[in-house]
Amino acid sequence: MVLNGVGVGRSVAVGPTLRMPEPLAEPVDEVSTEPQPEAFARVQAALAAVSADLEARGEKAGGQAQDVLNAQSLMAADPTIVEDIETRLGDGRTAERAVFEAYAGFRDLLVQMGGYMAERATDLDDVSRRVIANLRGVAAPGIPESDAPFILVAHDLAPADTALLDLDKVMGLITREGGPTSHTAILARSKSIPAIVGVEGAENIADGTFVVLDAAAGTVDTSPSDSDVEDARQRIAERASLAAAPLTPGALADGTAIPLLANLGSADGAAEALAAGAEGVGLFRTEFLFLDASVAPTVDEQFVEYERMLRAFAGKKVVVRVLDAGADKPLSFLNDAPEENPALGLRGIRALRASEQILIDQLTALARAEEAVNGAGVLGAGRHGGGGASERVDLWVMAPMVADADDSEYFTTVARELGIQVAGVMAEVPSSALVADQIFETADFVSIGTNDLTQYTLAADRLLGSVANLQDPWHPAVLRLVGMLGRAGLDAGKPVGVCGEAAADPLLAVVLVGLGVTSLSMTPAAIADVRAELARHTRAEAEALARAALKATSASRARIAVTRLAAANAVG
Ligand code: PEP
Ligand code: MG
Repeated sequence: MVLNGVGVGRSVAVGPTLRMPEPLAEPVDEVSTEPQPEAFARVQAALAAVSADLEARGEKAGGQAQDVLNAQSLMAADPTIVEDIETRLGDGRTAERAVFEAYAGFRDLLVQMGGYMAERATDLDDVSRRVIANLRGVAAPGIPESDAPFILVAHDLAPADTALLDLDKVMGLITREGGPTSHTAILARSKSIPAIVGVEGAENIADGTFVVLDAAAGTVDTSPSDSDVEDARQRIAERASLAAAPLTPGALADGTAIPLLANLGSADGAAEALAAGAEGVGLFRTEFLFLDASVAPTVDEQFVEYERMLRAFAGKKVVVRVLDAGADKPLSFLNDAPEENPALGLRGIRALRASEQILIDQLTALARAEEAVNGAGVLGAGRHGGGGASERVDLWVMAPMVADADDSEYFTTVARELGIQVAGVMAEVPSSALVADQIFETADFVSIGTNDLTQYTLAADRLLGSVANLQDPWHPAVLRLVGMLGRAGLDAGKPVGVCGEAAADPLLAVVLVGLGVTSLSMTPAAIADVRAELARHTRAEAEALARAALKATSASRARIAVTRLAAANAVG
């Protein structure tokens, strides 16, 4: 049987599946029928088992993970918590409920303490869930353990789950929820894990089913023939050889340079990006550094991270996005007010305008980091006193979720006052494309975030699998907005990049260039494919492909029309 979903990336995976356990339901608050001593003995056994398991996993993991797991192991054996559970059992709670309430109480205490302690709250939640799972006799939550490599099947993955994936074990991902631009998809793409999201029927794939996961086709074949498997293995080998092609700068067949930049969440990914031939960073998602923080990071804390990134890309361009809090990337210190429609709420530049000091601190840290790398100096003339020209980093800073010229004027003014020399905006809200000429009056550049631009243009939540078919940046409505931005950039003589996931789709990348986009930023894993596709088309051909896409009446028709025309070009 073939299941369909939205493919992430273009790679293929072959192997047996393993399911992620479903999230645990909260234990019901009911009167216990179990005698208290027996319930307490069961809880003690569960706590001991979880504590030992966490310690063993820590030993296996080593490094920083071991410290975290050891700390969690101690949380499971903590005498104060054990005493609290015992009291609650005495009050008539069930074993599961007593564990749940005791850990929740300590969790709230940690949150109130703030800072480092508050950041441990989620670790405590995890221990609590593990103990409850043990009491229920079900699998512990989180990524399943296995000695052999597998393809992970899940309802959806939290960013923390994806970050902890063991890439030697997890060959591919299949999720029931999520669209192509959900953060799970973005993280999967950045780790080069073939993934299919929004797969209806994923919940019925039994553990151990041997599947062929084809991300380019968006399919999961749960009963592949021998020749399907052979074909898939050959494609895996072909992709490996493409990755070994020379690392030339991005360019069209006629030589037009289209810089290929990397999307990164921290300097940890710098070596991989440079190895893939990234010509700089086109999107540094700074919020990824502080997702766990409950208080705003200080200027000094931020400086360390930014300097690390800028040094890693000395001699190149780095486009930094200021903190982008949103429904999918909650930053409690920026906006933790409950909202009915968070995607339409106080997020991006709106949240920063409401907490201006956070924006000021970040821009200050960025300006200092640039000074540290390029040589300290007085602002203005002679600023770049140190370092040879080739060592200097070219820092550009941009604001997310800019709606109009007022947002752009606000951000670029504050940024320049704080010493940022190149200040621009992201075009993610459709209104920004409609007034692009006005935005260019203040912005030095625009970078199009096609993930959010698609979500807002088609009114389709990027986190929701049921509308994944609408979250397609091939949609002519999205491409028309890209075309408006490209034209406005040309008129203003200013660059227009794309840093959304659309830039990582090789053929769509050519269409974007045909619409006036001057650079492309993507997960390093996609650079080789995009470089190869750009080199197959001249600018005139790219423009013809763009015209074909704009004329189509749906995303899938645009994709088909462009694929056909591109094939004809290749033949002709
Ligand atoms: C986008 O919206 O396209 C984008 C690049 O930002 P993010 O995916 O981080 O929201
Ligand atoms: Mg965005």
